[in-house]
Amino acid sequence: MTSATASGLLAQLNAGAVTSEEIVRGYLDRAERLKRLNAFVHLDAEGVLDQARAVDSRRRAGQPVGALAGLPVAIKDVLCVEGELTTCGSRMLKTFRPPYDATSIVRLRAADAVLFGKTNMDEYAMGSSTETSAFGPTLNPWDEGCIPGGSSGGSAVAVAADCAPLALGTDTGGSIRQPASLCGVVGLKPTYGRVSRYGLIAYASSLDQIGPFAHDVTDAALLLKAIAGHDPLDSTSVDRPVPDYLASLDTPPPSLRVGIVPEFLGAGLDPEVDAAVREAIRVFEAAGATVKEVALPHSKYGVPAYYLVAPAECSSNLARYDGTIYGHRAADFSPKYPGEKDIAPLVLMMMASRAEGFGAEVKRRIMLGTFALSAGYADQFYNQALKVRRLIKNDFDAAFAEVDVVLSPTSPTPAFKLGEKTSDPIAMYLSDIFTITANLAGIPGLSIPCGLTKSGLPIGLQLLGPAFSEETLLRTARVFERATDWHTKRPGLK
Ligand code: GLN
Repeated sequence: MTSATASGLLAQLNAGAVTSEEIVRGYLDRAERLKRLNAFVHLDAEGVLDQARAVDSRRRAGQPVGALAGLPVAIKDVLCVEGELTTCGSRMLKTFRPPYDATSIVRLRAADAVLFGKTNMDEYAMGSSTETSAFGPTLNPWDEGCIPGGSSGGSAVAVAADCAPLALGTDTGGSIRQPASLCGVVGLKPTYGRVSRYGLIAYASSLDQIGPFAHDVTDAALLLKAIAGHDPLDSTSVDRPVPDYLASLDTPPPSLRVGIVPEFLGAGLDPEVDAAVREAIRVFEAAGATVKEVALPHSKYGVPAYYLVAPAECSSNLARYDGTIYGHRAADFSPKYPGEKDIAPLVLMMMASRAEGFGAEVKRRIMLGTFALSAGYADQFYNQALKVRRLIKNDFDAAFAEVDVVLSPTSPTPAFKLGEKTSDPIAMYLSDIFTITANLAGIPGLSIPCGLTKSGLPIGLQLLGPAFSEETLLRTARVFERATDWHTKRPGLK
C-alpha cells in the first residue's frame, strides 16, 4: 500500500476500501523501518494516528471531507506548526514550538490532510545536500552513500522512500527541484506569490516559495491546489484565482512549443544527465512538440547574483536570532578574550548565542550578506546583483514570447557522495546552476524524473514557464509521463 500514489490512495479512501488509520499505520511502520535514512526530524505516531482517526470517523458519519482527506503529508521543518517542534535544522531553534500554524498548514488542515511529521533539511534551508542540518545528514534511498540533494532533502526522501505519499518543501534557489531530481520524484516550485509564506521561517524573502513533492504530476497538482492562493497574511501572495490543476491535466496543452538552451547541454554537464535530457527532448518531439533554441545569455550570472541577494536577505532575516527573544540563549557568556572585557553583557550574550546556535554555512552566509550590504559596498555588490537579476528576468520574458516552456536538466550531476562537496562551497553552490534563475525571475519550475544512470541514480528534467503557468507546466509534464515510465520507478530499499 505504501508504494501507491496519493491519488490512488484517495480513490480507495473515498470508496471505503481502506481507512486513513490503515494507511497511516503502513507509512509509520515503513518510516520506522527506514529510520536510518534520517528523513524525519520529528514524527509523533500518536498525534498522526489521532488525526487519521478523526478524518475516518467524519467519513464514516457521512460528513463532508476535504480534498486530501486522510492523506499523510510530510512537512519540511521550516514551516510553523502550532505547538510542534519547528527547528529549521538548526541548534538555534532546537526547542522552538510556534504559537501558530503557517497558512500552508492551515490549508492542509482544512483539506483534512494528516500532518505526517517534520522532515530534515539543511540548516535554515541553506545548502544543496541536507548535510548542514544540526540533526545529521539525510541519506539518498537510491544509494545510501549519496546525498539526497537539499535543502528539502528530508521531504524528497520521505516521498522517494515511500514513507509518505506527499510532502511540502521550500525552494529559494532550487531546494525543491534539485532534491526531487536527485531522489527520482516530482518537485514543483510555484511562481513567487502563488503560495502564502506566512509561517514559513524566512531565508531570503524575495526568493522563497513553498511547493509540493510527489511521485507524479497528478499528485503534485493535487497538493499544489490545496495550498495555493491569496492570503491577507502574506502581502506578497497574489490575489489571482487558483486554476483547477487536476481538471485539465490529461488534456495536452493547446500549444507545445518547447525551448532548449544550447549552452545548458553538452560540455560541463554529466554525460548521463546530458543523454537523458536529450532523450526527454526527443520524447516531446515524438509527442508533437516543436523544439526551438532560445537564448538565456545572463543565466551564467545566476549563481553569483544569487549568492549576493540571498545572503543579503538572510543576514537581515536571521538578525532576530540572538537569544534575547528568539533562538538559543548561551548559558555562559562571560568574556573569553582580552578584547571582550569591555563589551556589555547583553552583547556578549548575543555573540555567544549566535556563535553556538548557528552552524558554519549559516555563519558564512550572514557574513557574506552583511558585507554585501555594508556602506560603501552595497552599490558594488548588492545593487549590481539586483541589476543582473532584472536582466535574467528579461531573458525569460523574451524566451517565453517564443516558447511555452523551457526544458533543461534540473541538476548538472546525479546525487554525489556524502561529504564530497562539504569542504568546497563553490562546488556545492554550482549544484543549483539550472534552478537558481527561476527564483531570481520569480517564475515556476517543475522537476520530473527522466532517467536513471548506469549505477541506478535518478536524473531529473526541469520545465520552466512564465509566471503563473503552473497549469501548463503540469500538463506538459503529463505528456511526458504518458509516454514514459520513469515516474513509476522506486529505489530497491530493504
Ligand atoms: N542551495 C541553495 C542555497 O544554498 C538553495 C537553497 C534553497 O533553495 N533553499 O541557498
